[in-house]
Amino acid sequence: MEEIKSLLLKEKAALLANIQEKAVNSKTNSDIGDAIDSSVEEQERELDLLLQDREQARLKGIELALKRMEADDFGYCDECGETISKKRLLAIPLARMCINCQSNEERSKLAQNAFSRADYSSQVLSDD
Ligand SMILES: [Zn+2]
Repeated sequence: MEEIKSLLLKEKAALLANIQEKAVNSKTNSDIGDAIDSSVEEQERELDLLLQDREQARLKGIELALKRMEADDFGYCDECGETISKKRLLAIPLARMCINCQSNEERSKLAQNAFSRADYSSQVLSDD
């Protein structure tokens, strides 16, 4: 579990550095912003904000995972409560479901999408 923790801490540090770097950049941008008042820059800023949102959401996820780790509540499937394999957690530290539940969910999503398709029944038959 220490391996995963250090992985999460590393990712957290990288994200924080990224967000800070962007904050510095947007500050310099706003200094010269009056001179270059173009719509392109506006769009870039919006994109930055969007990315920042996503990064912050990920950061929150990492912090939550670290908290759960401290409370010894980390690495359990949200769906069935089984432990998530270490291999899976190393690949996706923020995984909330075990591989079985994840693939079940993906399969049911796929099935829902496939309902309107003509080849649905043949897909199900060839599935297992
Ligand atoms: Zn599960």
